[in-house]
Amino acid sequence: MVTDLPQRPAAGRRAAVIPPELRTALATLATADELLVATDFDGVMAPLVQRAEDARPLPESAAALRALAEVPHTSTALISGRALASLRHAASPEPETLLVGSHGAETWTGPNAEPLQLTPVQAALLARARQAVASVVDASPGCRLEDKPAGVVLHTRGAPDDVASAAVDAARGRLGELDGVQVTDGKRVLEASVVHSNKGEGIRALRELTGASAVLFAGDDVTDEHGFAALQRGDVGIKVGPGATAAGFRVDSPADFAEVLTHLLQLRRAAVEN
Ligand SMILES: [Mg+2]
Repeated sequence: MVTDLPQRPAAGRRAAVIPPELRTALATLATADELLVATDFDGVMAPLVQRAEDARPLPESAAALRALAEVPHTSTALISGRALASLRHAASPEPETLLVGSHGAETWTGPNAEPLQLTPVQAALLARARQAVASVVDASPGCRLEDKPAGVVLHTRGAPDDVASAAVDAARGRLGELDGVQVTDGKRVLEASVVHSNKGEGIRALRELTGASAVLFAGDDVTDEHGFAALQRGDVGIKVGPGATAAGFRVDSPADFAEVLTHLLQLRRAAVEN
């Protein structure tokens, strides 16, 4: 790992962690007429932590995203599985940053954005899904339930592996009996939602809203694959960390992604000034 060489000059480190093909793609991306920089939060802007409420963005990434939002013809967005309130709490985004939460079920596009409203049928379904997950959590030491505006989440990060996988199986079985509940896998989480959405739909909506001619999207989890699938020619998809992906590019860690954002900021400033 290059990051084990603290004496190395910053410029040399940047060159090493951003693959050459990605550098080339970023150089082209930076010349887009209207650029949207959209990124997942946990595992991308912020290192993964045991307790979700403790996650914070890396300072370099937060600074680069903030500065990108100030560049003309450049929009920024966070697209997260978190509920919007939780995303705001962890990310402390600038007001310019567009927010998509709950895997696309919740959006914040400015002060006039409409808050999520469940229909009575959705609300009743959510109550049943919550009951199903609660019964699993009660029987599974170390597992935890999280309520979201349009869903309920089983967290298994605090449980031993065997308890975690049994809990996921049990919850999947019970939720599978509920018509209209969308079940999504993540890293040590199983999420049930009564609003059918995904990060791909989030990206499509943001592309339209911002009039972006090119999009950068970065993510680390299986739910981000919907986002990568929504990318088009000229966009840049970056998978952070290991695992199968449809993204065109990969970096190893949130620290490396900070280098990507910082490099893109420099390229974008230069491109817009000329
Ligand atoms: Mg993530």
